Parts: sequence; C-alpha cells; structure tokens
Amino acid sequence: MHKKIGIVGAGTAGLHLGLLLRQHDIEVTLFTDRRPSEYAGMRLLNTVAHHAVTLERETALGINHWPEAECGYFGHYYYIGAKPQALEFYGDLHAPSRAVDYRLYQPRLMEDFLEQGGEIDYREIRAEDVASLSANFDLLVVCTGKGPLGQMFQHEPAHSPFDRPQRALCVGLFKGIKETPTRAVTMFFSPGAGEMIEIPTLSFNGMATALVIENIPGGDLEILAKTKYEDDPRAFLDLLLSKLRQHYPTCAARINENEFDLANSPLDILQGGVTPTVRKSHVVLDNGKLAVALGDVHAVVDPVLGQGANVASYAAWILGEEIIAQDVFDERFVERVNLRRQDRVLGATRWTNFMLTNLKAMPLELQQFIFQLSQHKPLADVFTDNFNYPERQWDCFASVARMQAWCEAQLAKIKRASDNEQPTAAQPLSSAA
Ligand SMILES: Cc1cc2nc3c(=O)[nH]c(=O)nc-3n(C[C@H](O)[C@H](O)[C@H](O)COP(=O)(O)OP(=O)(O)OC[C@H]3O[C@@H](n4cnc5c(N)ncnc54)[C@H](O)[C@@H]3O)c2cc1C
Repeated sequence: MHKKIGIVGAGTAGLHLGLLLRQHDIEVTLFTDRRPSEYAGMRLLNTVAHHAVTLERETALGINHWPEAECGYFGHYYYIGAKPQALEFYGDLHAPSRAVDYRLYQPRLMEDFLEQGGEIDYREIRAEDVASLSANFDLLVVCTGKGPLGQMFQHEPAHSPFDRPQRALCVGLFKGIKETPTRAVTMFFSPGAGEMIEIPTLSFNGMATALVIENIPGGDLEILAKTKYEDDPRAFLDLLLSKLRQHYPTCAARINENEFDLANSPLDILQGGVTPTVRKSHVVLDNGKLAVALGDVHAVVDPVLGQGANVASYAAWILGEEIIAQDVFDERFVERVNLRRQDRVLGATRWTNFMLTNLKAMPLELQQFIFQLSQHKPLADVFTDNFNYPERQWDCFASVARMQAWCEAQLAKIKRASDNEQPTAAQPLSSAA
C-alpha cells in the first residue's frame, strides 16, 4: 500500500521518524518553522546527551556523523554532598553515550532527510491548520507541543503530578573547565539546593562543557536561574563561580578562571523550567482521521536524568515500525503503538519525577541505596548503564521494597561472580531490550 505521512516538527522525534520511514520508501512531508541555516544563530536549545541505545538507532539510520571514539563519553561520576563528607563514585556505561549541540545536530539531520527523498515544508503550523493538513495524509504525527498545538492532546492527570516546574534551570555551554580523568558525565547532588549535570559536548568550536544546573525553587541556587548573563557577564560568571565553589567544589576545582566563560557566544545560555507533563497519545479529528502525539508533546520530563530525547527517539522508532507494518491508521493502530512504547515512556516519566521529589529530601532508603552504589562498583555500573533503559530504573525505584530487592539481587550476583560461579557482571537484570 502507498502511504503518505505528515509530520509537524523537525526535532529529534520528527526527524528520527521521518528518516526511518524514508528508509522504507514511505512518502513523508515534514512541516517545520525553522530552516537548517537558522540554527547556527539561535540560542542554545537544550544540552542533550544521546545514550548508546539512541546511537544504535542513528547508526541504523545512517546518521551517526559524530563518532563516539572522538566525542563520546564512557560513564558517570557521582558526587553527593560537598567535602569533607561527600560520597563519590563512578559507574561505567556498556557503550559510550554522546552529546552534540542540537544547533549542529538537527540541521544536519534535516539535510539527511532531504537527501533521502523526504520533503520539508517550511512554515508555522497552527492548531486550526491540523484538520485541513490531515486531509492530505494517511496519518499526521504532531511532534511539537508549543502553544495550542500541544493543547490538542488532553492532559493525563494520572501521570502528571506537577502543575509547575520542579527545578529552576540555568543551563549553559562553557569553556575553561578541564575534563575529568575519564571522559564522562558528572552528576552532582547538593541536598536541599539542587543538582548539576556536567556533560562533555561537541559544539561549534569543538568540545565544550554543558552545565545543567537544576535549582530547587526557594533554595540557595535559584538565583542562578534569575540572573541574566547579558546584563553583566562578569558579575554572572563571578556569581556562578562562587556557587560552584560552595555547592559543587569538585567541578570548581577544574575551572581555569581566566578562561571560564560561555563557549561560543552570549547565546550559549538558557534559563527557565519544564513542567513534567504527559498528554493523551492521539486525537480523533473532525474528519475522522487521527493526529498522533510523539516526543515532548506526548511526555515531557525535567532534564535532570537526560531522558526526553532518548525516549522521543525510541517512541519514534516504535511508531515508525507500526506505520511500516500496518495499513489502517485507526484507534487500534494507536493502541498497538501505545502498548509497545508506554513502558519506556512512562518509565522515564515516573523515574524522573521520583528523583525530582526524593533528591530534595533524600529519604533514608535513597541514602542507603546510593551508599550501596558507592561501595560496589558493579552496582554503580548497572545503575549507570540503566540510563539507557528507564523502565529498568523504574523496576528498581517503584517502591522501597524494590530498591532493597534490587540491591540484594545485584550483591548476590557479585558474590556469585567472585565465587567464580558466573562471569563478572555489570549485567542488566531484565533481558527486555
Ligand atoms: C536543558 C535541557 C537539557 C536536556 N537534556 C537532555 C538529555 O541529556 N537527554 C535527553 O534525552 N533529553 C534531554 N532534554 C530533552 C530534549 O531536549 C527533548 O526531550 C527533545 O529535544 C524533544 O524533541 P521533540 O522532537 O519532541 O521536540 P522539539 O525538539 O521541541 O522539536 C519541535 C520541532 O517543532 C518545530 N516547531 C515548533 N512549533 C512549530 C509550529 N507551530 N509549526 C511548525 N513547526 C514547529 C521546531 O522548530 C522543532 O523543529 C533536555 C532538555 C533541556 C531543556
């Protein structure tokens, strides 16, 4: 059957879906409000790390243009609290992750999509355009939640516990920060104040350091989300340095203060917040056709655990496979898509929301869990690698009993390995891919 698919939005969700469909010769039109040439002059969009599972999809699509050997990273360092009582440990990933500035990544994928015979229509789509647009396609997929387009899809209160951002974000791309001994993400936790994720990132001038500073509203670090770099760059950098020395001293110790600044330009900083929200996966339009939600418009999470784009890519792949396999795009079609994608999508949502809530107060069971990770590197390896599989993290964090059982099962594995009954393992618990 000849199929025609329309996609609104050329972010990771829309692009990965469009590229997969083009590999199968399906006719695809992407609608987007930005041309590839516009990205270089834009403000930092986000600071996204793609995990190995996403890089595997990129390789399969022929779009892995940024070799992990050159710009990938290999694990996570974790620092909880400030010295002298800080807990510090490191976990390996089974295969590298990689972060590329989306102002480079997305226009390059748009070029790939065009080279593979896709069509791009550059214009802003309004919610009232969707029904007439859908008449030209067998299925319309909406991959942007901006404004009224997002509101087309009903809010799911059962999966959306918050009505406002849980962190005030200050996110920047910096130069002058020396890399860690192993190239890795570093996750810092300052209980009561917030978290900071440091990500080695490829940008316009080579490798730079993304700092995702997640600040608890009302806490000591919230001011970082409210102070404008543009007003007085030196004053902003001095404020940031003083807060880093106090809350994240191991990062501050690697900073060359003479070089420390935004990596490329004053556009390398982003401040604001994300309200974690899940929306219904589709809407039936007046003409009987479906519009399906994909990516952030379906489920948007706070960036603290780096899940949004990885899950968007995964969900795009599942939706693409179902579009390729099925000929009728009705409610049963969406039901099948949802059954396949929801464990990971909801796993990422629930695990991220759990961490946002529990990192604030650090209940005893979470402290004990983190202590176990710090004492046993194989546990830290499994936990780190499971950033690839948020549903496995939710298998672990869904209840206190599960957190304890996870540690016991992993410790038993280590013991068996050291007794030579099994090979040494940073093996995941579940075999689901
Ligand atoms: C600071 C920060 C750090 C992050 N870090 C990570 C991370 O480490 N790992 C991770 O996996 N995720 C991360 N995320 C989340 C990630 O950025 C998003 O989940 C992901 O980019 C969503 O992709 P998308 O395709 O759904 O939407 P978007 O990227 O928002 O794409 C929307 C597209 O639609 C277009 N568009 C918008 N409105 C219209 C319109 N009206 N008409 C036509 N086109 C339109 C836009 O131009 C764009 O092309 C982070 C987010 C932030 C803010």
